[in-house]
Amino acid sequence: MGPPGAGKGTQGEILEQDLGVPRYATGDILREAKRAGTAMGREAQRYMDAGELVPDDVILGIVREALAGEVAERGFILDGFPRTVPQAEGLGRILEDLGVRLDAVVDIDVPDEVIVRRLSDRRVCRECGAAVGPGDGGACSACGGELAPRADDRPETVRRRLEVYRDQTAPVLAWYAASAVPVVRVDGVGAVREVASRVRAGITR
Ligand code: AMP
Repeated sequence: MGPPGAGKGTQGEILEQDLGVPRYATGDILREAKRAGTAMGREAQRYMDAGELVPDDVILGIVREALAGEVAERGFILDGFPRTVPQAEGLGRILEDLGVRLDAVVDIDVPDEVIVRRLSDRRVCRECGAAVGPGDGGACSACGGELAPRADDRPETVRRRLEVYRDQTAPVLAWYAASAVPVVRVDGVGAVREVASRVRAGITR
C-alpha cells in the first residue's frame, strides 16, 4: 500500500522477481482491460481518468479471479489493493475461502511534495504500459513504443487521487492495524534499491 507515486509498482516488481511469486496489480489489470477495450475496461476508464476509485464489486471480481485455483497457495503480492475498507473485508472472505492468510501489509510512506514531483516526471509506454522514468531515451526500453505521461498523472487528477487516498485508502491501514496481519511501514524516499532493501527487511523480520 501507499499513495499514488509511492513506488508500489516498482517495488512490487522487484519483490516479484526476488520472491518468485506472482504479483497482481489491480491498476495494471484495469489499464490492460482499457487498452483491450473490454466492457470492464470502458467502465473503469471513467473512474480512472477522473482520479476516482473503480467500484469495489468490479475490483473484488478481478481479485477473486486472479487468486483462483492453486495460484494463491504458492504465495502472491497484491499491488494497489485493497484500497477501501470494504475491499479489505472482501479480500478477507476470498482468502478465507482459499484457506490462505496475508503475511504482511507493506505501507510505503512518501510525503505529498515528493509524490507530485515524481508523478509529473513519470512517463509510461503507450504500447505496453511499462512505467519508465525520464532519461531512458525517447522510446520504451521494454518494447520500443512511444512514451507519454500517464492519463491520470495530470496535476488536478493527482490532487484528487491524493484526496481519495487520504479519505478512502488510509483507513484500510488502521483496519489492518486492528487485525492480526502485521503492518510494516517503510520509508519510500530514496533510491529504488534502498527502498527495496527496506521492504525486504520489513517482511522477513
Ligand atoms: P494504480 O496503477 O494502482 O495507481 O491505479 C490507477 C487507478 O486504477 C486508480 O486511480 C483507480 O482509479 C484504479 N484502481 C486501481 N486499483 C484499484 C482498487 N484497488 N480499487 C479501486 N480502484 C482502483
